[in-house]
Amino acid sequence: MTVNAEIDSILQRAADGGRITPEEALLLYTDAPFHALGEAADAVRRRRYPDGIVTYLIDRNINYTNVCVTACKFCAFFRAPKHKEGWSHPMEEILHRCGEAVDLGATQVMLQGGHHPDYGIEYYENLFSSVKQAYPELVIHSIGPSEILHMAKVSGTSIEEAVLRIKAAGLDSIAGAGAEMLPERPRKAIAPLKESGARWLEVMAIAHRNGLSSTATMMMGTGETNAERIEHIRMIRDVQDLAVANGYQDTPVEAEGTGGFRSFIPWTYQPENNHLKGRTQATNMEYLRFVAMSRLFFDNVAHLQASWLTTGKDVGQLSLHMGVDDLGSIMLEENVISSAGAKHRSNLLELISMIRTADRIPAQRDTLYRHLAVHRTEADDPTDERVMSHFSSIAIAGGGRKNLPLVEAS
Ligand code: SF4
Repeated sequence: MTVNAEIDSILQRAADGGRITPEEALLLYTDAPFHALGEAADAVRRRRYPDGIVTYLIDRNINYTNVCVTACKFCAFFRAPKHKEGWSHPMEEILHRCGEAVDLGATQVMLQGGHHPDYGIEYYENLFSSVKQAYPELVIHSIGPSEILHMAKVSGTSIEEAVLRIKAAGLDSIAGAGAEMLPERPRKAIAPLKESGARWLEVMAIAHRNGLSSTATMMMGTGETNAERIEHIRMIRDVQDLAVANGYQDTPVEAEGTGGFRSFIPWTYQPENNHLKGRTQATNMEYLRFVAMSRLFFDNVAHLQASWLTTGKDVGQLSLHMGVDDLGSIMLEENVISSAGAKHRSNLLELISMIRTADRIPAQRDTLYRHLAVHRTEADDPTDERVMSHFSSIAIAGGGRKNLPLVEAS
C-alpha cells in the first residue's frame, strides 16, 4: 500500500468510528493532507452531534493563591513562598467573586491556585463547602490531580481519602489542569518538581472510580516531539478505556463512551514572563492538525474543546471545522494563562457569532454538556452585554481586578 493509500484507509476507518493506533495517529498528524484530516474529524463530530450544535459555557476562573512550591518553569503565575508578590485571597473575596459570576449568568466556577505549603485537605474542604453553601447553583469544576496530591501530602492522607473528602465538601468535577505534557521526558523538562504523568493519571482514575468525572488537557509547544504529543493522548485514552469498561460515570451519558473524561482540551503554551527560555510555540497549523487528529484518536471521549484563549478567535473558529464541538468558556476572569501572554478576549455575542458564522448552532451548556439555551436564530440570543472576558495580570495586586467593572456599573 502506498503512504497515501494507507493514510486514506486510516482516515476512513477513523471517520467511521474505528479505533486508530498511536502509530497511525502519528502518521496522520505528520503526513495526512490538511483538508482530508479536517474532513475526517468533522465527520466524527457530525456523527456524534448530528444536531450541528456547538456549545459554550459561562464560568469564572477564581484564583485563591499564587503561592506555590512547585515552581514549574513554564508558569508565569506562581510566586514562591515569602515572595513579596505572593498573595492569598480571604474566603470573603472568593465568595464575592462567585457572587459576581452568578450575577452574570455563570453556571460554573473553576477555583485554581498554587501549591501553598500550608493548604491541606481542610483548606479545600472549607473552600468548597463555603462556595456551595453561599451559591448552591454554582457547579464547582476545580483544581486538578496536582492539587489533590499536594493536599494529601500536606494532610498526610491517601489520595482516595482526599478525593472523597473534597467531593463530600462540594467539589463536583475535577479540572484537567496540570496535565501539560504527560510523558516523562518533556514533563521533567518543563516541570521537574511536579508529579509524573503516570501519577497525574492515577489520581484521575481514583477520582473517576469515586464518581468524580473530569476533563483532560494538553499544553503543546514547549519543545516536545510529535511522538511525545501522541504518547500524551495515548496515556489519556488508556485510562479512559478503563473508566468506560468499569462504568465509572456519574453524569448523564449524552454520547457514547463518555467515561471519566468528558472532554479533551489541547491548548498552546504561552511564552511570556516565565523561566522556559528559547522554546518555540506551537504554530496554528500544528494546533489545528492536532485538534483534528485528536478527534479521530479519542473514540472514547465525547467532547473536544477549542482553545480560542491561547490561539485566538480566528483559529478557534477554524477548529470548528476540525472536529471541535465546544468553544469552552467566555471566562469572566482568567489570570493564569493571561499572565504568560494570552491576550485574546471575547464577549458572549461574539462567541455566539463565531459559532453561527461557522455554520453551527450555538448553545449555552452546563458543566455536563447539557444544553441550557439553544440560540437557533438571532432572536434567541442573550442580550446581556456585560458578559465578557476579563483578563488581568499578576502585576495587579491581588492577582486581578477586585471587581468586574461592568458589574459595578449595573
Ligand atoms: S503551574 Fe501550578 S503547580 Fe506549576 S508553578 Fe504554576 S501554580 Fe504551581
